[in-house]
Amino acid sequence: MANPPATREDAEARDRADPLAGLRSRFAPDGAGAIYLDGNSLGRQPVSAPIRVASVLEEWRTRLVGAWEEWIDRPAMVGDRIGTLVGAGPGQVVVSDSTTVNLYKLAAAALDARPDRSVILADHHDFPTVRYVLQGLAERTGRELRWVDSDPREGCAAPEVTGDVALVCLSGVNFRSGALLDMRAAAAGAHRAGALVLWDLSHAAGCVPVDLDGDGADLAVGCSYKYLNGGPGSPAWLYVRRGLQSGLRQPIWGWWGQEDQFAMAERYQPVAGIDRFQAGTPPVVGLAAVDAGIEPLLEVGIGSLWAKTSELVSMLAARVEARLVPLGARIASPTDASRRAGHLAVAHPGAWPAVRRLVDSRQVVADFRPPDVMRLAPVAAYTRFVDVWDAVERIAGVLAEGELTGSVPIRRVT
Ligand SMILES: *Cc1c(COP(=O)(O)O)cnc(C)c1O
Repeated sequence: MANPPATREDAEARDRADPLAGLRSRFAPDGAGAIYLDGNSLGRQPVSAPIRVASVLEEWRTRLVGAWEEWIDRPAMVGDRIGTLVGAGPGQVVVSDSTTVNLYKLAAAALDARPDRSVILADHHDFPTVRYVLQGLAERTGRELRWVDSDPREGCAAPEVTGDVALVCLSGVNFRSGALLDMRAAAAGAHRAGALVLWDLSHAAGCVPVDLDGDGADLAVGCSYKYLNGGPGSPAWLYVRRGLQSGLRQPIWGWWGQEDQFAMAERYQPVAGIDRFQAGTPPVVGLAAVDAGIEPLLEVGIGSLWAKTSELVSMLAARVEARLVPLGARIASPTDASRRAGHLAVAHPGAWPAVRRLVDSRQVVADFRPPDVMRLAPVAAYTRFVDVWDAVERIAGVLAEGELTGSVPIRRVT
């Protein structure tokens, strides 16, 4: 990998030489022209999204119920496309529900498949919805929720898995520090002990290369509004390894998982294949936005996106060391750069007011995670090297101003 740019001119030169530079124009400019470093929370809007959504609205207007003929296949069709970004062969990914609901469905199915095992293994530093869903399932099914050994900065290593573990459920990328999980090693350890694995890839899909089929994943879920650019509340996806599909039953026995759905039989009998993990009528309008969101990524492939992301992140880390560490910040992402994913966590006691001030007066959109972390995500599809340079200069300006006080309000975060 090339050395990080040492001057703003170097950064501009890097942009001129960037083979992905053209992708940026596929995303709509935002209202304020700010430097957007929050694509790991809500990806930018693809230029094609309003067009694709309008075309579904038009199908609805002109064809009404007749359009279901095509709509009916879209959850699996868009699922297969997402699959190519996460190393899943066709017929193993479907778009449905929210990440939270999919996590519940797959974790419950896995626990039912290991009735004699009493433990769920998870990460105390994982995203809240993962912890809550597993707490709920542990309580409902009389199991023990056991935490793996993990570090808020470094993430977790492949855990020790004992013979009483039914399910290992971890995130591919930690939402706060950006630490990568070694999914292959973790799956191998779990399988040796006879447990199933479930990965939450919300912070990985569309950013880091994932090889679900190759790395022995059993189950996975992820959202589509972060690096997949599907828009606020866009439907999530789920993956079930082909060989496991017929042996698993999800807890929501809905008619969209039913064999021969329109025969409307008396008894629930799940269809063969990935569609058995659907529940109710799919969100067709949202699916169109998801399809628009992944389109630019599919054109260039996850490998070239990741090549640029890792250069952006290493440049960001170098600039943070040079400019922000002397002002009291520290990097709160893994020490070993090869364990970092697409965003950098920067800790500072005044992180919360700094993030507010950056948005209000410096045209930089970053986000804050308690207790003291600013998350900075340069996204390969639309962030330039020069944006990284300028953003760090503006953050330095805010930290140098000082008087970063103010308590953290309670607010909704994703
Ligand atoms: C963003 C995110 C989610 C989101 O779940 P929703 O059901 O869409 O609210 C879930 N898990 C992880 C790890 C996330 O980062």
